[in-house]
Amino acid sequence: MLLLHDSLLHHPFRLVRGNYGRPITDTHFSEIRHESFRKYAPVFQNAAFILTHMCILQYITAFHKALFFILYLIIFFILPFLCLLCIIIELYTLADKQKMKGAAITRRNNMLQIGCHLSASKGYEAMGKEAVKINANTFQFFTRNPRGGKAKEINPTDVEKYLAFADEHGISRILAHAPYTLNAASVDPGLREFAKLTMADDLKRMEYTPGNCYNFHPGSHVGQGAEVGIGFICDMLNEILTPKQSTTVLLETMSGKGSEIGRTFEELREILDRVSLSDKMGVCLDTCHIWDGGYDIVNHPDEVLTEFDNIIGLSRLKAIHLNDSMNPLGSHKDRHAKIGEGEIGLEALTRIINHPALCHLPFYLETPNELDGYKKEIEILRKRYTE
Ligand SMILES: [Zn+2]
Ligand SMILES: [Zn+2]
Repeated sequence: MLLLHDSLLHHPFRLVRGNYGRPITDTHFSEIRHESFRKYAPVFQNAAFILTHMCILQYITAFHKALFFILYLIIFFILPFLCLLCIIIELYTLADKQKMKGAAITRRNNMLQIGCHLSASKGYEAMGKEAVKINANTFQFFTRNPRGGKAKEINPTDVEKYLAFADEHGISRILAHAPYTLNAASVDPGLREFAKLTMADDLKRMEYTPGNCYNFHPGSHVGQGAEVGIGFICDMLNEILTPKQSTTVLLETMSGKGSEIGRTFEELREILDRVSLSDKMGVCLDTCHIWDGGYDIVNHPDEVLTEFDNIIGLSRLKAIHLNDSMNPLGSHKDRHAKIGEGEIGLEALTRIINHPALCHLPFYLETPNELDGYKKEIEILRKRYTE
């Protein structure tokens, strides 16, 4: 026990402390043991502290490593990938725009001007955009509700936007259509006056988009005889046409349904002859109407066009309504069919768009279609158009 105590006396704690001059007892031994613990405690504490911090450090380092790894991923992979994606999208959009421009230029070059009847309810710019959407480079529209009535105010900003858009996309000529219920050849003076005022107002509005054509159905004589009806039509035209107008007014070839005037080329010639400002006048040929009117454009297109040229003059022809017909030749019915689904057929209509006397003219579809259907017909006809 004493030996143990002696050895303890030489224990470093004892030396360090140096205040243990008292005889060593068991109590002292316990005290010394306690002291030795106190002596080494800071070392253990420090070690524990360091170990703990090392663990934390290790944890932080691992966390940082993960963080750095994520940052590394973001900077070197995700961001470049996103940039690349943006560049690809941008290039794709540009290519699309270029393609649209290219398509417009191609259309301008190959010169098939084709469009369809569009709703004018959203204005000119909307019509232009709708036309481009279906690969058309012209369009027809009603100047107001087809049944007549008051026209919507023209918005000059819309017209300005449209003109810039039309220029960019190669839309050079458009065709306005008068309400089809107007009858300048009516027995009723009130109806004739209404037709006159409406058309005069339309012609004024047409000057917002100068240099285009305004098409109208000559009218129905309703039993008075074509000669009387033609007289009324010419009176009206002589009142409303002005030397300064830039619009060409077109007489539409009609099917001869009921008492329609314009069922023969001769009737149209007579109107043209009796209008003083004849240079403001032209003709719009409707393939369905002349077929229904008895002109065989399927089997004898050349003869029909020669007849047109002899009676009216091809120089008067400014636009074509390209429609198939639900009815046979000479039926005088006026029921339009989709391209290739009627009595005229796709082959005959293909010959029409490619005919040397007609291929430079603008063609307007008035077939029973929604926009999608028009798009398909335009695509079919463009494919069949050869310069
Ligand atoms: Zn018409
Ligand atoms: Zn028709």
